[in-house]
Amino acid sequence: MTDRLRAGATLTIDLAAIVANWRLLRQRSAPAECAAVVKADAYGLGMAEVAPALADAGCRIFFVATLDEGIALRCRLQTHGDEVVAGGTPPLPPPAIFVLNGAPRGCETELLQYGLMPVLNSLSDIATWGTLAAMLGATLPAALHVDTGMSRLGLPSEEVERLADEPERLDGTGVVLVMSHLACADEPAHALNRQQLEAFSAARARLPSAPGSLAASSGIFLGADWACEMVRPGAALYGVAPTPGTDNPMQPAISLAARIVQVRKIDSGTTVGYGATHQTRAPAIIATAAVGYADGYLRSLGNRSAGYIGDIRVPLVGRVSMDLITFDVTDVPPELVHPDAEIELIGANLNGDAVAAAAGTIGYEILTSLGPALRASTRRPTRDRHCGGDARPATDR
Ligand SMILES: *Cc1c(COP(=O)(O)O)cnc(C)c1O
Repeated sequence: MTDRLRAGATLTIDLAAIVANWRLLRQRSAPAECAAVVKADAYGLGMAEVAPALADAGCRIFFVATLDEGIALRCRLQTHGDEVVAGGTPPLPPPAIFVLNGAPRGCETELLQYGLMPVLNSLSDIATWGTLAAMLGATLPAALHVDTGMSRLGLPSEEVERLADEPERLDGTGVVLVMSHLACADEPAHALNRQQLEAFSAARARLPSAPGSLAASSGIFLGADWACEMVRPGAALYGVAPTPGTDNPMQPAISLAARIVQVRKIDSGTTVGYGATHQTRAPAIIATAAVGYADGYLRSLGNRSAGYIGDIRVPLVGRVSMDLITFDVTDVPPELVHPDAEIELIGANLNGDAVAAAAGTIGYEILTSLGPALRASTRRPTRDRHCGGDARPATDR
């Protein structure tokens, strides 16, 4: 039995598309440096595969959210590097890795151990980093994050002022990057975009001189003013449209297909699924496919999305169950609808952003829902990934 038949649903991740997307974003932002955000396991798609592919393509700077993600990334790139060079390892090897949330209290030395740099988000973060530096008699590299309108992470303007007035607070901290984050970059006409750029420039003028970074995926498309010296795309690498409402310049990075497990004819007036939320108005053929909300196929898609068999659209009818969904396939030639035939749920006919819109969410959440649930082995990067565990006889592979 092949893996594909064994799995209920198949999530295919296109590493080459992710690399092509990074190259396109780099080209668009040049001469700014193009980093890559690989937090949350590369938006669910597998940091262990995505990061080495980007590093091979020339990406020198990565951002993760947490210390443990940073450690995993450093170890992965180190191993990967060893495969390539098979030599000794330098003490602070490139690529640079920034940890957006900094280190949990008391774990700051682990950042150093793994050659990671914290993003310092407050005067207190800066003081902790400075104390460690003093203890070690060293200057320790870090990024400074200033809040310019997001009210989430970063030094508020009064803390930037304090820092400007009392520069000794930065003793021991080697500021290698000053960054901020845009709240509304996916709405190019939003007034906050220009206001944040101005607030960022004002803050930078009060802080030690260092490369600046403001734009994530959507910010890259606001214009050259926002690119500064470094851009930090995440979602666009993974194919999510950075400019909603216009043509998506990015290549899709995922596709999702589900296997039909049963086909049935039902009469007019019959209900389908939990809650009997769909009722046929004519005799119909229903195909049941093996994917559900336990696989990250969001329950809010019930009665709201569709699949494709070939290029024929089949509406998803009834609620999404834990492991199953149902489609009205009445209009599909019968020879195409049978157990083990596949229904495309995300692909050439229906992209992740469209599915997200149907679910009332954004493409980001489609990735982080499906990826962790449906990705299995991380050993073979270009292979299709399947639902299901690894505890099967070797002869079955
Ligand atoms: C997640 C994140 C990014 C990447 O954002 P995308 O919209 O996915 O490109 C960049 N910077 C910060 C601070 C982030 O939290």
